[in-house]
Order: sequence, then structure tokens, then C-alpha cells
Amino acid sequence: MAVNDLLSFDREHIWHPYTSMSEPLPVYPVESASGVRFILMDGTVLIDGMSSWWAAIHGYNHPVLNDALQKQAEKMSHVMFGGLTHEPAVELGRLLVELTPAGLEKVFFSDSGSVGVEVALKMALQYQHARGCPEKHRLLTVRGGYHGDTFHTMSVCDPVTGMHTLFANSLPAQLFAPRPHCRFDDCWQDNDIAEMARLLAKHGDELAAVILEPVVQGAGGMWFYHPQYLDRLRSLCDQHDVLLIFDEIATGFGRTGKLFAAEHAGVTPDICCLGKALTGGYMTLAATLTTTKIARVISETAPGLFMHGPTFMASPLPCAVATASINLLLQSDWQKNIQRIEQQLRQELELARDLPQVVDVRVLGAIGVVEMKESVDMAALQCFFVERGVWIRPFGRLVYLMPPYIIDPEDLTFLTSALIDAIKEETH
Ligand SMILES: *Cc1c(COP(=O)(O)O)cnc(C)c1O
Repeated sequence: MAVNDLLSFDREHIWHPYTSMSEPLPVYPVESASGVRFILMDGTVLIDGMSSWWAAIHGYNHPVLNDALQKQAEKMSHVMFGGLTHEPAVELGRLLVELTPAGLEKVFFSDSGSVGVEVALKMALQYQHARGCPEKHRLLTVRGGYHGDTFHTMSVCDPVTGMHTLFANSLPAQLFAPRPHCRFDDCWQDNDIAEMARLLAKHGDELAAVILEPVVQGAGGMWFYHPQYLDRLRSLCDQHDVLLIFDEIATGFGRTGKLFAAEHAGVTPDICCLGKALTGGYMTLAATLTTTKIARVISETAPGLFMHGPTFMASPLPCAVATASINLLLQSDWQKNIQRIEQQLRQELELARDLPQVVDVRVLGAIGVVEMKESVDMAALQCFFVERGVWIRPFGRLVYLMPPYIIDPEDLTFLTSALIDAIKEETH
């Protein structure tokens, strides 16, 4: 297909994430991807700094993942999960139970992160109902969160940057504590959780669960907060008989330097959501894990079943690739690798700190964030980046990197220097 035909059809007919169909921003036609590189249709090569939104941790076109995909496709790509089971689902389930924090023992597979969060919220609500506490049906979260684009997940996204105003009439009113303020590596200040504690004390009777992203708030602001917050929150939730849900969809599988961000605090949530990097970015799959107790209460009270069951539940193809991706991660020296990336990001992004337009530079694991004073011109910056041979997609006031873990130091420097030059350019 000629590039021009492709682009003009795309422009006329195809919606992209969070975009206008009337004034679409430019999109770049990509032909293929391999390792940490995209090849555009005009031959331009770009080094990927985004891992396709946290997902492609091993880079693209990986022989091990390709092989798992092909082998599974030759057996079966998909079969319904009602009344059937298969090795890909069981193998992956076994791995997830083993690797996630102790106590998470029951796995519900679904087809995207947002649905995985919906499932978690539904589990919490159905659990409270089943144990005779139907009045415990509200949710409490922190500001600055992001949990997905479906309706109930929207209700717990940040109320300002989220979509609350537009859909106010259709969204349940949830409760919001302030964004955890204390930085990941600062001294813990116990008053950081005071308002959360007050809300739990006041509304505990009507709360089903607290949901939040552990340690790293992703799309709601790329903010890293103190793990002690989670430890304190765990006790408060227990004290007020409220479930705790961790949304590890962005943080899971090593991104923050631990396999799961919950490990920074040594805390087990009652329910945990996984997605994004679960399949190494090959295809969409999510998992929601919970405890034996919650599963039992839901299952032993009328209607005696958990009320959810997607058509593409535990599809063999993504399950097989997910197992291959997790094993690939575990067989690599991933912790050392993330430490190496973290060190380099700290060193090289530090150069941005003194630029007049920059408010903050922060790094955790394989995530490097430069926060600007003002919102950036995304289209202009993206064009600058493509000319520089990198794929970096800023949003709002944030320009950030979360490269595939396999990136080598030279390519990473290529990314950080492009990022810093872009900011200098912006500053003019
Ligand atoms: C991306 C994301 C989601 C939503 O996942 P989708 O696959 O886009 O539906 C939910 N929670 C967090 C923390 C995320 O980063």
C-alpha cells in the first residue's frame, strides 16, 4: 500500500487513542519493529523509548516470543473457556500464583487492563454483598490515579485530569484522598496518609475497597511515592474492614526494579490487577488475582458464582506468549538490567534539572520522567523526536522514558540526549 493512501484513509476513517477525527494530529506509519527499533514505511529508523505503553519489555519481534506464538497457533489460537481448560492457561496461572505476593491464589483472566480492573472492582463489590454487607459498595482511591477507560474504572481515575465532568451523570461518586505526597526516596512522613485515614474512619461502613497503583502512578502523572504509604494503608484497610486493591497493570513485571511494585512495601493486597507487560507486549491479556478467602465467600453465597466471563477469557495464544515472556524475564538478569537503566537515566536526565522550563526530574527503575512547568506541544515535540530517530511520546507537562529492558547503554543515551535537546528546543 502506498504511504499516502494509507495515511489518507487513516486520517479519514480510523480513530486513534484520545484524538479528534476532525483535527487529527500526525501519525507515523510503522512497517515493522525489532529489538528496540521501529522501522517506518519511509525507511526511518526510530529507537523506542516507550515500550508501547509499558508493555514491550523484551523489545519487538523477539525470537523466543515469536516461537511461543507460532507453536501455540499451530495447536489452537483460541477456544472458549466455559467448560474447557488448557495447558497455556494453567501454566500461566501457576506462574502468576507463584510470583505475585503470597496469598494471591485465585486467577481470573480477562482481555484488557480496564476489564481486569472492572473484574477487581466487581470482585470487591460481590464479596461485600456475599458476606452480608451490601452497604459497603463505594470505592476510595487517591487523586492522580489512572485505572482505565471503561465506566467503573473511570470513576476511580483522577477526578480532574480524568473524565468525571463529561460523564458525571453516568459515573458512581467515589471518594478521593490526596495524592500520596512523600517521594519514593524521601523520609516517610506519617501525615502523608492522614486524610486517607480520616476518610477510611469516616466512610469505612460504606466502603467496599480502596484501589490504587502501588508506588508508581502512571498515566495520571508519572509520580513515585513512598512505599510506607502502602504498608500503612494495608493496616488501615484491615482496621476498617475494607479490601485493598493494587492495580499493577503498569508496574508489574520488573519496571520499578521489583517484579511487582507491592514488593517495595512487602504488602499483599486482597486483589491485584496485571496487564500491559504480561505478554511482553505481544497481545492483549489481563489477570486479576485474589485470595482464597474472597473467592470462597463469593462462591459460597447465592448466586454461588462470580458474575463475569469474557468471550476471550484465558485465550491460549496470549497465555502461551505470557508464559514465554515471564520465563524469558526470569531467566535474564533483569534486576541488574533495570538497575543499570536506572543509574543511567539518573545520570543523564539530571542534565535537564537546571533547565528553566523543568520543574522536576525523577527516576525509578526503568522509568525516567522530566516534568515541565507548562504543557508541551506534543505534535511539535513528536516531530522533533522522529527527526532525531527516537520514539518518545510526551503527554501534558511530562516528557518521559520507559524503554524496553533490553536497551543497550548507547541506545539509551541516544534517547536521553534527544529528550534533553527537545526540552532545550521547547525552552526557546
Ligand atoms: C493502562 C492501564 C490500565 C488500563 O489498561 P488497558 O489495557 O489500556 O485497558 C489500567 N490501570 C493502569 C495502572 C494502567 O496503566
